[in-house]
Amino acid sequence: MLFRSLCPAPEIGANSYLLDTGNSRIVLDAGMHPKREGLDATPRFHEIEDGSIDAAIVTHSHLDHIGTLPLLAHRQPQAKLFFSPAAAELGFAMLHNSVNVMQSKRDELGIDVYPLFSHRELDEIENTIETRPNETPFFLDSQAGVQATFHDAGHVLGSVGVTIEANDHRLLYTGDVNFEPSTLIKGANFPEDPVDTLVIETTRGDSPRPPDYTREAEEYRFAETMAKTLKRGGAVLVPVFAVGKTQEVLTMIHRFKREGLLPARTPVVIGGLSTKMTVIYDRFGNGATRRSDDDFRILSDMDLKAGSRRRNRKRTAIVPEPGTIYCLSSGMMTEKTVSNGFARAGFLENRKNSLLFVGYADPDSPAGHIRAAKAEERIVLDSSHPPVPLRAQMEVFDFSGHATRDDLLDYILKVKPKRTFLVHGDPAASEWFRNELARLLPSTEAIIPEPGRDYELS
Ligand SMILES: [Zn+2]
Ligand SMILES: [Zn+2]
Repeated sequence: MLFRSLCPAPEIGANSYLLDTGNSRIVLDAGMHPKREGLDATPRFHEIEDGSIDAAIVTHSHLDHIGTLPLLAHRQPQAKLFFSPAAAELGFAMLHNSVNVMQSKRDELGIDVYPLFSHRELDEIENTIETRPNETPFFLDSQAGVQATFHDAGHVLGSVGVTIEANDHRLLYTGDVNFEPSTLIKGANFPEDPVDTLVIETTRGDSPRPPDYTREAEEYRFAETMAKTLKRGGAVLVPVFAVGKTQEVLTMIHRFKREGLLPARTPVVIGGLSTKMTVIYDRFGNGATRRSDDDFRILSDMDLKAGSRRRNRKRTAIVPEPGTIYCLSSGMMTEKTVSNGFARAGFLENRKNSLLFVGYADPDSPAGHIRAAKAEERIVLDSSHPPVPLRAQMEVFDFSGHATRDDLLDYILKVKPKRTFLVHGDPAASEWFRNELARLLPSTEAIIPEPGRDYELS
């Protein structure tokens, strides 16, 4: 059995992995790199012989895991595509939005290969996919006897890790995982039996959690910072991923209002894509997934304002209003997204406002640049516009959707893999795990897989 990373580089990016059992070939995830453009942002699908893949699994709806699925389906039309039900709904909504983003990048930045796929192709693919519930084994390839089982990964709604069993070999791929419960969804529910091979994310390997951290204290600090901002006549911007972080932050705000930590009438505004995703989150209440608060419906129970509407087929920009909380995507404030344009249009330079980060931001993204900046520093948010000074209060909170490095390490020690592939992390993050495993579990072979290279699993 062989394992190969199809990522363009060993970091968080276009996640995709190939498993070859000898008589069956499986692809795990088909991501798009968030920082690269065009074909440079895609996995090494050209290195796989056309028509040779039997099945592919998508672990969740974030674009670094699903963003190039249509390219894979185009080269490998015979491959069966497997999802959890919620990941499928959220995922295809993300992909349709991605077509629109690529279209505007083609128009505004002149990237000719965009869009890499069309709405019509997505509709065709969506008609062929298969969804599977968690903890129920199914055949990826019945002829070759390759079985898979999904497990709730606790990262975003519908996210799964997967156990694959073939030739008496058990491999577990975590996808993105969070072992702790968050406000809206429960923590991961992963098996703890021994595995032969573990493929595990390492996102937070380079960022230890402060020893005095508690979720309660962090939530209180978040509520208090928002309350103070509103009181001084400022507005709050929380840049969030449309899937996961938006719904998590909205649920927290709802609770803060109920507990009297925020004025109950504070308007909360969300952006276009987030609204669509929140509708799907609400649809998967009522026991359909392991949500924590099954009866709560974000959109109807919160009376949110949708921040952008189409006028003359052009989106009108959202303008900051004092006393309002804005939860806008994207989380990394990427150019041409709602949160980027909003920050540029008078928000960042107003001292009364506050900009609150709640999750991971790549150091090279606009959000990363703001997080590294000092007050009054001028920041380029969009290369086609002048820089703007950072005068708003800026704070970073740890509500990560990824497991802490200690939780990941504990999990590796429990399942005692013979071989551990360290993926989905910056080099320093994966390296931390390799060193810890050399000390604590010398029986495992800890590997940071070199993209494009085959590793024998025996
Ligand atoms: Zn993710
Ligand atoms: Zn990811």
